[in-house]
Amino acid sequence: MTAESVSPSASRRTFAIISHPDAGKTTLTERLLLAGGAIRAAGDVKARGERRRARSDWMDIEQKRGISVTSSVMTFERDGITFNLLDTPGHSDFSEDTYRTLSAVDAAVMVIDAAKGIESQTRKLFEVCRLRDIPIITFINKVDREGVDPLTLLDDIASGLALDLAPMTWPIGLGTDFRGLIDIEQKVALLPEVRGGTQSKELTFSDPHELEEKAHVEPHILNPSIEGLELAEGVLSRFDRESFLEGHLSPVYFGSALKEFGVDRLLDALEKFAPPPTTRPANGRKVSASEAPVTGFVFKVQANMDPNHRDRVAFVRLCSGKFKRGMKLFHVRENRMVTIAAPIFFFAQERETADEALPGDIIGIPNHGMLRVGDTLTEGETIRFEGIPNFAPEILRRVSLDDPMKAKQLSRALQDMAEEGVTQVFRPLIGAQAIVGVVGPLQLDVLASRMDKEYGVPIRYDQAPFVTARWIASDDKTVIEKFLEVNRSSVAEDRDGALVYLARNAWALDQAKQDWPALRFADVRERG
Ligand code: GDP
Repeated sequence: MTAESVSPSASRRTFAIISHPDAGKTTLTERLLLAGGAIRAAGDVKARGERRRARSDWMDIEQKRGISVTSSVMTFERDGITFNLLDTPGHSDFSEDTYRTLSAVDAAVMVIDAAKGIESQTRKLFEVCRLRDIPIITFINKVDREGVDPLTLLDDIASGLALDLAPMTWPIGLGTDFRGLIDIEQKVALLPEVRGGTQSKELTFSDPHELEEKAHVEPHILNPSIEGLELAEGVLSRFDRESFLEGHLSPVYFGSALKEFGVDRLLDALEKFAPPPTTRPANGRKVSASEAPVTGFVFKVQANMDPNHRDRVAFVRLCSGKFKRGMKLFHVRENRMVTIAAPIFFFAQERETADEALPGDIIGIPNHGMLRVGDTLTEGETIRFEGIPNFAPEILRRVSLDDPMKAKQLSRALQDMAEEGVTQVFRPLIGAQAIVGVVGPLQLDVLASRMDKEYGVPIRYDQAPFVTARWIASDDKTVIEKFLEVNRSSVAEDRDGALVYLARNAWALDQAKQDWPALRFADVRERG
Protein backbone atom coordinates (compact mmCIF):
# COMPACT_ATOMS: atom_id res chain seq x y z
CA MET A 1 0.00 0.00 0.00
CA THR A 2 1.45 3.39 -0.91
CA ALA A 3 1.34 6.38 1.36
CA GLU A 4 -1.04 8.05 -1.10
CA SER A 5 -3.67 5.37 -0.67
CA VAL A 6 -3.66 5.73 3.12
CA SER A 7 -4.43 9.44 3.11
CA PRO A 8 -3.21 11.87 0.51
CA SER A 9 -1.61 14.12 3.09
CA ALA A 10 0.35 11.18 4.54
CA SER A 11 2.85 11.97 1.80
CA ARG A 12 3.53 15.47 3.14
CA ARG A 13 6.25 16.61 5.53
CA THR A 14 6.01 20.29 6.33
CA PHE A 15 8.92 21.57 8.38
CA ALA A 16 11.21 24.49 9.17
CA ILE A 17 14.86 24.77 10.09
CA ILE A 18 15.58 26.63 13.30
CA SER A 19 19.08 27.83 14.02
CA HIS A 20 21.28 30.71 15.03
CA PRO A 21 22.81 32.71 12.15
CA ASP A 22 25.92 31.01 10.75
CA ALA A 23 25.11 27.57 12.08
CA GLY A 24 24.68 26.39 8.49
CA LYS A 25 20.97 26.65 7.70
CA THR A 26 21.49 27.90 4.16
CA THR A 27 24.09 25.26 3.38
CA LEU A 28 21.91 22.52 4.82
CA THR A 29 18.88 23.80 2.90
CA GLU A 30 20.86 23.57 -0.32
CA ARG A 31 21.92 20.03 0.47
CA LEU A 32 18.40 18.95 1.29
CA LEU A 33 17.02 20.43 -1.91
CA LEU A 34 19.84 18.80 -3.81
CA ALA A 35 19.20 15.43 -2.19
CA GLY A 36 15.56 15.81 -3.16
CA GLY A 37 16.53 16.73 -6.71
CA ALA A 38 14.82 20.11 -6.52
CA ILE A 39 17.88 21.99 -7.67
CA ARG A 40 20.67 20.92 -9.88
CA ALA A 41 23.67 22.51 -8.28
CA ALA A 42 24.46 23.60 -4.79
CA GLY A 43 24.53 27.39 -4.65
CA ASP A 44 21.20 27.77 -6.36
CA VAL A 45 19.33 28.54 -3.19
CA LYS A 46 21.19 31.74 -2.51
CA ALA A 47 21.08 32.75 -6.15
CA ARG A 48 17.36 32.16 -6.35
CA GLY A 49 16.82 33.94 -3.08
CA GLU A 50 18.67 36.94 -4.37
CA ARG A 51 16.59 37.10 -7.54
CA ARG A 52 13.43 36.86 -5.53
CA ARG A 53 14.62 39.55 -3.18
CA ALA A 54 15.46 41.80 -6.09
CA ARG A 55 11.73 42.05 -6.73
CA SER A 56 10.97 42.99 -3.20
CA ASP A 57 10.27 46.49 -1.98
CA TRP A 58 12.55 45.84 0.96
CA MET A 59 15.36 45.61 -1.49
CA ASP A 60 17.15 48.67 -0.18
CA ILE A 61 16.79 47.57 3.41
CA GLU A 62 17.87 44.08 2.55
CA GLN A 63 20.77 45.18 0.45
CA LYS A 64 21.95 47.69 2.99
CA ARG A 65 21.72 45.24 5.80
CA GLY A 66 22.60 42.22 3.68
CA ILE A 67 19.84 40.07 5.06
CA SER A 68 16.61 38.54 3.97
CA VAL A 69 13.37 39.89 5.37
CA THR A 70 11.17 37.47 3.56
CA SER A 71 10.37 33.87 4.32
CA SER A 72 9.75 31.54 1.50
CA VAL A 73 8.50 28.07 0.77
CA MET A 74 10.72 25.43 -0.77
CA THR A 75 9.42 22.10 -1.92
CA PHE A 76 11.21 18.93 -2.87
CA GLU A 77 10.32 15.32 -3.32
CA ARG A 78 11.91 12.02 -2.45
CA ASP A 79 10.52 8.47 -2.30
CA GLY A 80 7.04 9.75 -3.12
CA ILE A 81 7.12 12.14 -0.17
CA THR A 82 6.68 15.87 -0.72
CA PHE A 83 8.74 17.97 1.68
CA ASN A 84 7.62 21.54 2.26
CA LEU A 85 10.44 23.50 3.84
CA LEU A 86 9.33 26.85 5.20
CA ASP A 87 12.19 29.25 5.55
CA THR A 88 12.50 31.25 8.74
CA PRO A 89 14.37 34.57 8.40
CA GLY A 90 17.63 33.78 10.08
CA HIS A 91 19.42 37.01 10.95
CA SER A 92 19.36 38.18 14.51
CA ASP A 93 17.10 40.91 13.16
CA PHE A 94 14.37 38.38 12.77
CA SER A 95 10.73 39.34 12.96
CA GLU A 96 7.52 37.86 14.20
CA ASP A 97 7.25 36.11 10.84
CA THR A 98 10.05 33.88 12.02
CA TYR A 99 7.97 32.80 14.97
CA ARG A 100 4.71 32.57 13.08
CA THR A 101 6.17 30.33 10.41
CA LEU A 102 6.56 27.77 13.16
CA SER A 103 2.78 27.72 13.61
CA ALA A 104 2.49 26.37 10.07
CA VAL A 105 4.89 23.42 10.33
CA ASP A 106 4.52 19.89 11.67
CA ALA A 107 8.18 19.43 12.59
CA ALA A 108 11.43 21.35 12.88
CA VAL A 109 15.08 20.64 12.29
CA MET A 110 17.27 22.33 14.89
CA VAL A 111 20.71 23.03 13.47
CA ILE A 112 23.47 23.51 16.02
CA ASP A 113 27.07 24.45 15.35
CA ALA A 114 29.23 21.70 16.90
CA ALA A 115 31.68 24.30 18.21
CA LYS A 116 29.12 26.66 19.66
CA GLY A 117 26.28 24.59 21.11
CA ILE A 118 22.98 26.31 21.81
CA GLU A 119 22.96 29.97 20.84
CA SER A 120 20.45 32.68 21.66
CA GLN A 121 18.30 32.52 18.55
CA THR A 122 18.16 28.73 18.57
CA ARG A 123 16.89 28.92 22.10
CA LYS A 124 14.18 31.46 21.27
CA LEU A 125 12.94 29.43 18.32
CA PHE A 126 13.14 26.24 20.31
CA GLU A 127 10.90 27.76 22.97
CA VAL A 128 8.31 28.57 20.32
CA CYS A 129 8.44 24.97 19.09
CA ARG A 130 8.01 23.76 22.64
CA LEU A 131 4.99 25.98 23.09
CA ARG A 132 3.35 24.05 20.25
CA ASP A 133 4.91 20.66 21.08
CA ILE A 134 6.47 20.62 17.62
CA PRO A 135 8.68 17.52 17.22
CA ILE A 136 12.31 18.47 16.70
CA ILE A 137 15.10 16.65 14.92
CA THR A 138 18.55 17.88 15.93
CA PHE A 139 21.37 18.25 13.41
CA ILE A 140 24.80 18.97 14.89
CA ASN A 141 26.60 20.63 12.04
CA LYS A 142 30.23 21.29 11.14
CA VAL A 143 31.77 18.11 12.56
CA ASP A 144 34.51 18.66 9.98
CA ARG A 145 35.61 21.61 12.11
CA GLU A 146 37.03 21.53 15.60
CA GLY A 147 34.12 21.25 17.99
CA VAL A 148 33.10 20.47 21.53
CA ASP A 149 33.39 16.81 22.54
CA PRO A 150 30.10 15.21 21.35
CA LEU A 151 29.03 13.85 24.70
CA THR A 152 29.70 17.14 26.51
CA LEU A 153 27.82 18.97 23.75
CA LEU A 154 24.77 16.70 23.97
CA ASP A 155 24.81 16.97 27.72
CA ASP A 156 24.79 20.76 27.47
CA ILE A 157 21.95 20.77 24.95
CA ALA A 158 19.87 18.27 26.92
CA SER A 159 20.20 20.17 30.19
CA GLY A 160 20.10 23.62 28.58
CA LEU A 161 16.82 22.94 26.79
CA ALA A 162 15.40 20.34 29.18
CA LEU A 163 15.02 18.01 26.23
CA ASP A 164 15.75 14.29 26.00
CA LEU A 165 18.23 13.48 23.25
CA ALA A 166 18.72 10.21 21.41
CA PRO A 167 21.89 10.02 19.31
CA MET A 168 21.27 8.36 15.95
CA THR A 169 24.64 8.98 14.29
CA TRP A 170 27.99 9.58 15.92
CA PRO A 171 31.13 11.29 14.59
CA ILE A 172 34.45 9.49 14.33
CA GLY A 173 36.75 12.34 15.29
CA LEU A 174 36.14 16.05 14.80
CA GLY A 175 37.85 18.74 12.76
CA THR A 176 40.99 17.57 11.01
CA ASP A 177 40.54 14.23 12.78
CA PHE A 178 37.07 13.74 11.31
CA ARG A 179 36.96 10.37 9.57
CA GLY A 180 33.27 9.69 9.12
CA LEU A 181 30.02 8.95 10.93
CA ILE A 182 28.59 5.87 12.57
CA ASP A 183 24.93 5.10 11.95
CA ILE A 184 24.28 3.64 15.36
CA GLU A 185 21.21 1.53 14.66
CA GLN A 186 22.19 0.24 11.25
CA LYS A 187 25.79 -0.45 12.34
CA VAL A 188 27.08 1.25 9.27
CA ALA A 189 30.02 3.63 8.91
CA LEU A 190 29.51 6.56 6.53
CA LEU A 191 32.84 7.37 5.00
CA PRO A 192 34.51 9.64 2.47
CA GLU A 193 36.28 8.27 -0.57
CA VAL A 194 39.35 10.29 0.31
CA ARG A 195 40.19 11.85 3.65
CA GLY A 196 38.46 15.23 4.01
CA GLY A 197 36.09 14.45 1.15
CA THR A 198 32.33 14.19 1.02
CA GLN A 199 30.29 11.23 2.27
CA SER A 200 30.51 8.65 -0.47
CA LYS A 201 30.50 5.09 0.85
CA GLU A 202 29.02 2.91 3.55
CA LEU A 203 30.64 0.06 5.40
CA THR A 204 28.76 -2.33 7.64
CA PHE A 205 30.34 -3.68 10.80
CA SER A 206 29.33 -5.77 13.76
CA ASP A 207 31.74 -4.08 16.17
CA PRO A 208 32.86 -0.48 15.50
CA HIS A 209 36.45 -1.42 16.46
CA GLU A 210 36.57 -3.25 13.11
CA LEU A 211 36.78 0.17 11.46
CA GLU A 212 40.43 0.39 12.43
CA GLU A 213 41.22 -2.28 9.90
CA LYS A 214 38.31 -2.02 7.52
CA ALA A 215 38.39 1.75 7.14
CA HIS A 216 41.93 2.49 8.27
CA VAL A 217 40.82 4.78 11.07
CA GLU A 218 43.66 5.51 13.43
CA PRO A 219 43.08 4.00 16.90
CA HIS A 220 43.76 7.32 18.66
CA ILE A 221 40.77 8.73 16.80
CA LEU A 222 38.53 5.65 16.68
CA ASN A 223 38.82 4.52 20.29
CA PRO A 224 37.83 7.77 22.01
CA SER A 225 34.93 8.08 19.59
CA ILE A 226 33.65 4.59 20.43
CA GLU A 227 34.11 5.25 24.14
CA GLY A 228 32.14 8.45 23.81
CA LEU A 229 29.39 6.64 21.96
CA GLU A 230 29.18 3.88 24.58
CA LEU A 231 29.00 6.46 27.35
CA ALA A 232 26.33 8.36 25.44
CA GLU A 233 24.26 5.22 25.02
CA GLY A 234 24.52 4.71 28.76
CA VAL A 235 23.41 8.19 29.81
CA LEU A 236 21.21 9.44 26.98
CA SER A 237 17.81 8.24 25.83
CA ARG A 238 16.92 5.71 23.18
CA PHE A 239 14.78 6.94 20.33
CA ASP A 240 11.08 6.67 21.07
CA ARG A 241 8.72 7.94 18.39
CA GLU A 242 5.87 8.66 20.76
CA SER A 243 8.08 10.83 22.92
CA PHE A 244 9.48 12.53 19.80
CA LEU A 245 6.00 13.31 18.48
CA GLU A 246 5.05 14.81 21.82
CA GLY A 247 8.07 17.11 21.61
CA HIS A 248 9.89 15.62 24.60
CA LEU A 249 12.69 13.80 22.81
CA SER A 250 14.83 14.75 19.86
CA PRO A 251 16.82 12.32 17.72
CA VAL A 252 20.30 13.70 17.10
CA TYR A 253 22.18 13.51 13.81
CA PHE A 254 25.76 14.64 13.56
CA GLY A 255 27.04 15.81 10.22
CA SER A 256 28.56 18.38 7.98
CA ALA A 257 26.30 20.22 5.61
CA LEU A 258 29.34 21.51 3.78
CA LYS A 259 30.84 18.04 3.24
CA GLU A 260 27.42 16.48 2.70
CA PHE A 261 27.90 14.20 5.68
CA GLY A 262 24.88 12.88 7.50
CA VAL A 263 22.39 14.86 5.39
CA ASP A 264 20.89 11.70 3.90
CA ARG A 265 20.29 10.33 7.41
CA LEU A 266 18.57 13.58 8.38
CA LEU A 267 16.34 13.32 5.33
CA ASP A 268 15.54 9.70 6.19
CA ALA A 269 14.53 10.86 9.65
CA LEU A 270 12.23 13.54 8.23
CA GLU A 271 10.67 10.90 6.01
CA LYS A 272 10.32 8.16 8.62
CA PHE A 273 9.79 9.99 11.88
CA ALA A 274 8.45 13.47 11.20
CA PRO A 275 4.68 13.45 11.28
CA PRO A 276 2.47 14.05 8.26
CA PRO A 277 -0.27 16.62 8.80
CA THR A 278 -2.66 15.32 11.44
CA THR A 279 -5.07 17.49 13.37
CA ARG A 280 -5.11 21.21 14.04
CA PRO A 281 -6.87 22.83 16.97
CA ALA A 282 -9.56 25.30 16.04
CA ASN A 283 -11.95 27.00 18.40
CA GLY A 284 -14.54 24.44 19.33
CA ARG A 285 -13.04 21.37 17.65
CA LYS A 286 -10.02 19.75 16.13
CA VAL A 287 -9.79 19.66 12.35
CA SER A 288 -8.38 16.44 10.94
CA ALA A 289 -6.18 16.49 7.84
CA SER A 290 -8.32 13.68 6.42
CA GLU A 291 -11.52 15.74 6.35
CA ALA A 292 -12.81 16.44 2.84
CA PRO A 293 -13.67 20.15 3.04
CA VAL A 294 -10.78 22.53 2.53
CA THR A 295 -9.55 24.49 5.53
CA GLY A 296 -6.44 26.56 6.08
CA PHE A 297 -5.06 29.61 7.81
CA VAL A 298 -2.87 32.56 6.96
CA PHE A 299 0.44 32.47 8.83
CA LYS A 300 2.27 35.19 6.98
CA VAL A 301 1.52 38.15 4.75
CA GLN A 302 4.18 39.47 2.47
CA ALA A 303 3.62 42.92 1.08
CA ASN A 304 4.96 44.78 -1.88
CA MET A 305 6.55 42.07 -3.90
CA ASP A 306 5.87 44.53 -6.68
CA PRO A 307 6.54 48.07 -5.47
CA ASN A 308 4.12 49.56 -8.01
CA HIS A 309 1.14 47.84 -6.48
CA ARG A 310 -0.21 47.54 -3.03
CA ASP A 311 -0.31 43.83 -3.51
CA ARG A 312 0.10 41.35 -0.75
CA VAL A 313 0.61 37.65 -0.81
CA ALA A 314 -0.99 35.74 2.02
CA PHE A 315 0.71 32.43 2.77
CA VAL A 316 -1.91 29.87 3.66
CA ARG A 317 -1.17 26.56 5.30
CA LEU A 318 -3.75 24.01 4.22
CA CYS A 319 -5.07 21.89 7.07
CA SER A 320 -7.64 19.67 5.35
CA GLY A 321 -9.23 18.91 2.00
CA LYS A 322 -7.90 19.19 -1.50
CA PHE A 323 -7.50 22.76 -2.71
CA LYS A 324 -8.02 23.25 -6.43
CA ARG A 325 -7.33 26.20 -8.67
CA GLY A 326 -10.42 28.35 -9.16
CA MET A 327 -11.95 27.43 -5.84
CA LYS A 328 -14.07 29.79 -3.76
CA LEU A 329 -13.48 29.76 -0.03
CA PHE A 330 -15.25 31.15 3.00
CA HIS A 331 -13.38 33.99 4.68
CA VAL A 332 -14.45 33.41 8.26
CA ARG A 333 -13.47 36.80 9.73
CA GLU A 334 -15.28 38.69 6.97
CA ASN A 335 -18.14 36.19 6.89
CA ARG A 336 -18.24 35.94 3.09
CA MET A 337 -17.17 33.74 0.21
CA VAL A 338 -14.10 34.90 -1.68
CA THR A 339 -12.66 33.76 -4.99
CA ILE A 340 -9.07 32.66 -4.66
CA ALA A 341 -7.72 34.36 -7.74
CA ALA A 342 -4.39 33.25 -9.17
CA PRO A 343 -3.20 31.14 -6.24
CA ILE A 344 0.53 30.44 -6.15
CA PHE A 345 1.49 26.80 -5.77
CA PHE A 346 4.92 26.00 -4.43
CA PHE A 347 6.04 22.74 -5.90
CA ALA A 348 9.17 20.93 -6.86
CA GLN A 349 10.26 21.53 -10.44
CA GLU A 350 8.41 18.74 -12.11
CA ARG A 351 5.16 19.66 -10.44
CA GLU A 352 5.09 23.36 -11.10
CA THR A 353 2.08 23.00 -13.29
CA ALA A 354 0.10 21.05 -10.72
CA ASP A 355 -3.02 22.84 -9.68
CA GLU A 356 -4.08 21.22 -6.51
CA ALA A 357 -2.65 21.30 -3.03
CA LEU A 358 -3.08 19.00 -0.06
CA PRO A 359 -2.99 19.42 3.72
CA GLY A 360 0.52 20.44 4.74
CA ASP A 361 1.03 22.34 1.49
CA ILE A 362 1.32 26.10 1.35
CA ILE A 363 -0.46 28.24 -1.19
CA GLY A 364 0.18 31.92 -1.79
CA ILE A 365 -2.90 34.07 -2.33
CA PRO A 366 -2.37 37.50 -3.90
CA ASN A 367 -4.78 40.07 -2.45
CA HIS A 368 -5.08 43.73 -1.57
CA GLY A 369 -5.19 43.47 2.19
CA MET A 370 -8.25 41.25 2.46
CA LEU A 371 -6.30 38.44 4.11
CA ARG A 372 -4.47 38.96 7.38
CA VAL A 373 -2.27 36.89 9.61
CA GLY A 374 -4.43 34.50 11.59
CA ASP A 375 -7.36 34.45 9.14
CA THR A 376 -9.07 31.11 8.59
CA LEU A 377 -10.45 29.93 5.24
CA THR A 378 -12.99 27.11 4.99
CA GLU A 379 -15.65 25.83 2.61
CA GLY A 380 -18.35 27.40 4.75
CA GLU A 381 -17.80 26.33 8.33
CA THR A 382 -17.30 29.09 10.88
CA ILE A 383 -14.20 28.03 12.75
CA ARG A 384 -10.98 29.76 13.62
CA PHE A 385 -7.65 28.00 13.80
CA GLU A 386 -5.73 28.59 16.98
CA GLY A 387 -2.06 28.88 17.49
CA ILE A 388 -1.11 32.06 15.66
CA PRO A 389 0.15 33.89 18.68
CA ASN A 390 1.49 37.33 19.39
CA PHE A 391 4.78 37.28 21.21
CA ALA A 392 5.81 39.81 23.79
CA PRO A 393 7.85 42.37 21.89
CA GLU A 394 11.46 42.81 22.85
CA ILE A 395 11.70 46.33 21.51
CA LEU A 396 9.22 49.10 22.32
CA ARG A 397 9.18 52.54 20.72
CA ARG A 398 6.94 55.56 20.89
CA VAL A 399 5.75 56.73 17.51
CA SER A 400 5.92 60.48 16.73
CA LEU A 401 4.65 62.43 13.78
CA ASP A 402 6.32 65.38 12.13
CA ASP A 403 2.96 66.59 10.92
CA PRO A 404 0.40 66.61 13.73
CA MET A 405 -2.40 66.99 11.16
CA LYS A 406 -1.84 63.38 10.22
CA ALA A 407 -2.79 61.89 13.57
CA LYS A 408 -5.87 60.22 12.11
CA GLN A 409 -3.98 58.67 9.20
CA LEU A 410 -1.33 57.50 11.61
CA SER A 411 -3.86 55.78 13.76
CA ARG A 412 -5.48 54.02 10.81
CA ALA A 413 -2.17 53.04 9.24
CA LEU A 414 -0.86 51.61 12.50
CA GLN A 415 -4.07 49.64 12.90
CA ASP A 416 -3.57 48.21 9.39
CA MET A 417 0.05 47.34 10.09
CA ALA A 418 -0.94 45.64 13.33
CA GLU A 419 -3.66 43.62 11.63
CA GLU A 420 -1.30 42.59 8.89
CA GLY A 421 1.13 41.46 11.55
CA VAL A 422 3.96 43.86 10.70
CA THR A 423 4.07 45.25 14.22
CA GLN A 424 2.14 45.25 17.43
CA VAL A 425 0.53 48.47 18.53
CA PHE A 426 -0.17 49.38 22.13
CA ARG A 427 -2.27 52.32 23.16
CA PRO A 428 -1.38 53.56 26.64
CA LEU A 429 -4.33 54.12 28.97
CA ILE A 430 -2.81 57.50 29.75
CA GLY A 431 -1.39 59.66 26.95
CA ALA A 432 -2.00 59.76 23.25
CA GLN A 433 1.24 58.49 21.76
CA ALA A 434 1.02 54.96 20.43
CA ILE A 435 3.75 52.49 21.26
CA VAL A 436 4.87 49.93 18.72
CA GLY A 437 6.41 46.64 19.72
CA VAL A 438 8.55 44.32 17.63
CA VAL A 439 10.79 41.32 18.22
CA GLY A 440 13.61 42.43 15.87
CA PRO A 441 14.93 45.93 15.09
CA LEU A 442 14.58 45.45 11.35
CA GLN A 443 10.81 45.36 11.80
CA LEU A 444 11.04 49.01 12.90
CA ASP A 445 12.71 49.94 9.59
CA VAL A 446 10.13 48.01 7.61
CA LEU A 447 7.30 49.68 9.49
CA ALA A 448 8.69 53.22 9.02
CA SER A 449 9.35 52.59 5.35
CA ARG A 450 5.85 51.29 4.71
CA MET A 451 4.16 54.04 6.72
CA ASP A 452 5.95 56.57 4.58
CA LYS A 453 5.63 54.92 1.16
CA GLU A 454 2.18 53.39 1.40
CA TYR A 455 0.35 55.74 3.72
CA GLY A 456 2.26 58.99 3.25
CA VAL A 457 2.78 59.19 7.00
CA PRO A 458 6.45 59.68 7.84
CA ILE A 459 7.09 58.66 11.42
CA ARG A 460 9.89 58.94 13.93
CA TYR A 461 10.61 56.68 16.84
CA ASP A 462 11.26 57.95 20.32
CA GLN A 463 12.67 55.81 23.05
CA ALA A 464 9.80 54.45 25.13
CA PRO A 465 10.43 54.31 28.86
CA PHE A 466 9.60 50.60 28.79
CA VAL A 467 11.69 47.56 27.98
CA THR A 468 9.21 44.76 27.95
CA ALA A 469 5.51 43.97 27.73
CA ARG A 470 3.34 41.29 29.31
CA TRP A 471 -0.33 40.56 28.75
CA ILE A 472 -2.10 40.64 32.08
CA ALA A 473 -5.08 38.58 33.09
CA SER A 474 -6.76 37.29 36.21
CA ASP A 475 -9.78 35.20 37.06
CA ASP A 476 -10.64 37.88 39.58
CA LYS A 477 -11.66 41.13 37.91
CA THR A 478 -11.17 43.20 41.04
CA VAL A 479 -7.49 42.26 41.06
CA ILE A 480 -7.10 43.80 37.63
CA GLU A 481 -8.97 46.92 38.71
CA LYS A 482 -6.72 47.29 41.75
CA PHE A 483 -3.64 46.77 39.63
CA LEU A 484 -4.83 49.47 37.25
CA GLU A 485 -5.41 51.93 40.09
CA VAL A 486 -1.73 51.75 40.96
CA ASN A 487 -0.17 51.11 37.55
CA ARG A 488 -2.36 52.93 35.05
CA SER A 489 0.58 54.83 33.58
CA SER A 490 2.29 51.53 32.73
CA VAL A 491 -0.66 49.79 31.12
CA ALA A 492 -1.78 49.85 27.50
CA GLU A 493 -4.31 48.07 25.32
CA ASP A 494 -3.31 45.97 22.34
CA ARG A 495 -5.27 46.07 19.08
CA ASP A 496 -7.88 43.69 20.50
CA GLY A 497 -8.29 45.71 23.68
CA ALA A 498 -6.36 43.20 25.79
CA LEU A 499 -4.47 44.78 28.68
CA VAL A 500 -0.71 44.88 28.54
CA TYR A 501 1.64 45.78 31.36
CA LEU A 502 4.65 47.74 30.12
CA ALA A 503 7.57 47.27 32.46
CA ARG A 504 10.26 49.91 32.84
CA ASN A 505 12.88 47.28 33.46
CA ALA A 506 13.24 43.59 34.27
CA TRP A 507 13.29 44.37 37.97
CA ALA A 508 9.92 46.15 37.77
CA LEU A 509 8.41 43.14 36.05
CA ASP A 510 9.72 40.77 38.71
CA GLN A 511 8.47 43.05 41.41
CA ALA A 512 5.01 43.28 39.83
CA LYS A 513 4.84 39.50 39.62
CA GLN A 514 5.72 39.22 43.28
CA ASP A 515 3.32 41.94 44.38
CA TRP A 516 0.42 40.63 42.33
CA PRO A 517 0.39 36.83 42.67
CA ALA A 518 -3.24 36.63 41.51
CA LEU A 519 -2.33 38.25 38.20
CA ARG A 520 -0.95 36.34 35.24
CA PHE A 521 1.82 38.02 33.21
CA ALA A 522 1.90 36.25 29.84
CA ASP A 523 4.58 36.66 27.19
CA VAL A 524 2.46 35.02 24.50
CA ARG A 525 -1.08 35.76 23.48
CA GLU A 526 -3.21 33.91 20.94
CA ARG A 527 -4.49 36.32 18.33
CA GLY A 528 -8.14 37.14 18.65
P1 GDP B 1 23.28 30.26 8.01
O1 GDP B 1 23.59 31.65 8.44
O2 GDP B 1 22.82 29.43 9.18
O3 GDP B 1 22.38 30.15 6.83
O4 GDP B 1 24.70 29.60 7.65
P2 GDP B 1 25.38 29.30 6.24
O5 GDP B 1 24.82 28.07 5.64
O6 GDP B 1 25.40 30.53 5.42
O7 GDP B 1 26.84 28.94 6.76
C1 GDP B 1 27.64 29.84 7.49
C2 GDP B 1 29.10 29.54 7.22
O8 GDP B 1 29.43 28.25 7.72
C3 GDP B 1 29.43 29.50 5.73
O9 GDP B 1 30.70 30.03 5.56
C4 GDP B 1 29.39 28.02 5.40
O10 GDP B 1 30.23 27.68 4.33
C5 GDP B 1 29.91 27.42 6.70
N1 GDP B 1 29.41 26.06 6.90
C6 GDP B 1 28.14 25.62 6.82
N2 GDP B 1 28.08 24.30 7.09
C7 GDP B 1 29.34 23.90 7.34
C8 GDP B 1 29.93 22.65 7.67
O11 GDP B 1 29.29 21.63 7.78
N3 GDP B 1 31.28 22.64 7.85
C9 GDP B 1 32.05 23.75 7.73
N4 GDP B 1 33.34 23.64 7.94
N5 GDP B 1 31.52 24.95 7.43
C10 GDP B 1 30.19 25.02 7.23
